[in-house]
Amino acid sequence: MSGFVRWEFLRIGESFDKAKGKEQKATGLENFLMAQYEKFEHDVLVIGAGGAGLRAAIEASAAGVSVGLICKSLLGKAHTVMAEGGIAAALANVDDRDNWKVHFADTMRGGQYLNNWRMAELHAKEAPARVNELEAWGALFDRTNDGRILQRNFGGHKYPRLAHVGDRTGLEMIRTLQDHGIHQGLDVHMECTVVTLLQDGDRVVGAFAYDRERGRFKIFHAKAVVLATGGVGRAYKITSNSWEYTGDGLALAYHAGAELMDMEFLQFHPTGMVWPPSVRGILVTEGVRGEGGVLRNKEGRRFMFDDIPELYRNQTADNEEEGWRYCQGDKNARRPAELLTRDHVARCIVREIKEGRGSPHGGVFLDISWIKERIPHAAEHIKKKLPSMYHQFMALAGIDITKEPMEVGPTTHYMMGGIRVDADSQMSNVPGLFAAGECAAGLHGSNRLGGNSLSDLLVFGKRAGEFAAQFAKTHGAGKLDERQIERAATLALAPFEKSNSGENPYKLQDELQDFMQDLVGIVRKQNEMERAMELIHQLKERALKAGVTGNREYNSGWHTALDLFNMLTVSEAITLAALERQESRGAHFREDFQGKDKSWGQANLVLRKGASGEMQISRAPIPPMSPELEKIVEEMK
Ligand SMILES: Cc1cc2nc3c(=O)[nH]c(=O)nc-3n(C[C@H](O)[C@H](O)[C@H](O)COP(=O)(O)OP(=O)(O)OC[C@H]3O[C@@H](n4cnc5c(N)ncnc54)[C@H](O)[C@@H]3O)c2cc1C
Repeated sequence: MSGFVRWEFLRIGESFDKAKGKEQKATGLENFLMAQYEKFEHDVLVIGAGGAGLRAAIEASAAGVSVGLICKSLLGKAHTVMAEGGIAAALANVDDRDNWKVHFADTMRGGQYLNNWRMAELHAKEAPARVNELEAWGALFDRTNDGRILQRNFGGHKYPRLAHVGDRTGLEMIRTLQDHGIHQGLDVHMECTVVTLLQDGDRVVGAFAYDRERGRFKIFHAKAVVLATGGVGRAYKITSNSWEYTGDGLALAYHAGAELMDMEFLQFHPTGMVWPPSVRGILVTEGVRGEGGVLRNKEGRRFMFDDIPELYRNQTADNEEEGWRYCQGDKNARRPAELLTRDHVARCIVREIKEGRGSPHGGVFLDISWIKERIPHAAEHIKKKLPSMYHQFMALAGIDITKEPMEVGPTTHYMMGGIRVDADSQMSNVPGLFAAGECAAGLHGSNRLGGNSLSDLLVFGKRAGEFAAQFAKTHGAGKLDERQIERAATLALAPFEKSNSGENPYKLQDELQDFMQDLVGIVRKQNEMERAMELIHQLKERALKAGVTGNREYNSGWHTALDLFNMLTVSEAITLAALERQESRGAHFREDFQGKDKSWGQANLVLRKGASGEMQISRAPIPPMSPELEKIVEEMK
């Protein structure tokens, strides 16, 4: 069954025949629309122009096929541009004990061994080459004294490993990839949103989209499609994510028959801004802690030293002095407790707040200004190392971080789960459909280490582009089906039919964000998640009645009405998987199942769309690791 036949097309509760009747009534409108479609042909279509999409497009183009690149925003404005702290790669420029094996072991430990180990292996081995290549294409990284790429400390990484450009690494990465990409002759379609994938049988053969500026429909015909659409954070109220993160790629793939995996693992970054309310959730980079920033409760206590997990005890300093020496590059020191993994730090912060030891606005204190006690010219040093953080707090909260602590608390940040792909080729179970970057699953298991996303984009973006090009070269163009296109158009325009009498899409989005935050957030309970599931089903009905006014030009109410379907699909997937996993592991914390369960440590959760449109879930056993990798993990435990 083709991808667009989903609940939004069938209207919940209606039979397929009834829906067909509706289509026939709309025939006049559809004919009118057909005359207005713009059609584009590409060998490979890449949906998403962040780090993963750009890298995929560059690789596909280098393989000699024609490439179209679509993005919702302007080129250069994708979410990747916001990335701050750096790109993880075992270059060993700052600590020569680092190598791919240590990076692999760190990534597996961070993901609590639910990672796709083949992806973790490829990632650790290939990241250094991808970073060096970025430098060769013009990226200007911060430098060591002897002129090599400088690397900084980050949570869960044993050695300083993050190649960075101050705290604006994403900007440099996007700028470099974009410059390189446009010289390869990519066709870029900006401000264009894909609303459904088009299929010939099971195979994906293109996409149906609207242009945001004029609201006109566009048809893309392609031999292979790469999804690189990023994450899902906009389904939550407090988030570090950009407006683009409505889970589009995951929903597009799921409705086209692709499997989703690890959806229960949503990362809450420990340090988002908490005050003033208008900026709540904006990220405070882990780089602050990497440069020596410390977390304190209102009593002034460095509470992170109170609870060091067994898995990390050997690698973590047991006193503040040792932690500081680590941040200063002392190779004999272990890292401070503030640099434990994000899942753990976030939960410790929640504990402090819940137990009444939080800061005035419901967070805890993050202090980098204290380093003036240890180094001369500390204010200049902080401004140089963390320029965006300095400006962010100055402009948004009136706080000078060189003089006083920040107030921070957890914020919805990163989706570890996503489209299930083959580790080497990045192809999903749907022929011709590839995925890379945050919308794909596997590399990070139950918790991502900071810096491992930007390297993920480069390593697997390249692979997706390479294998999509290969697919395009070995498969003819599939057929587009006019009926699919017509129905997609009818559905996309449905909110205009309801106009003022329909539900307000912004209100529906607000309600979703509120209850996902409260009921499927950082600490989860069965009865709360069951309530969330009921509310999701109610919202699915109500979303079908969303109405918008005005015309199709830059109509953000209309865009929101369409985005809602994607947010609801991913919210349902997150909730279903979180209900199913009855243990606490990585980013998934169940108050009613607080420990880790061995049997759950051997399986991922996979979701797919059933024959009658219902979301199905099953356990997929993790295949045994190769003996070589097993040995690495054991040696580095
Ligand atoms: C503030 C912040 C700081 C971060 N810092 C770091 C860091 O230092 N290191 C690190 O490793 N990670 C960091 N991350 C995470 C990292 O930035 C992201 O995971 C990563 O950039 C995602 O890249 P991507 O290529 O998968 O997607 P994105 O960069 O988000 O690109 C998605 C693209 O898809 C397009 N798109 C989406 N839906 C559609 C649609 N329906 N139709 C057409 N186009 C669509 C968008 O327009 C966009 O072009 C940070 C995240 C945040 C929020």
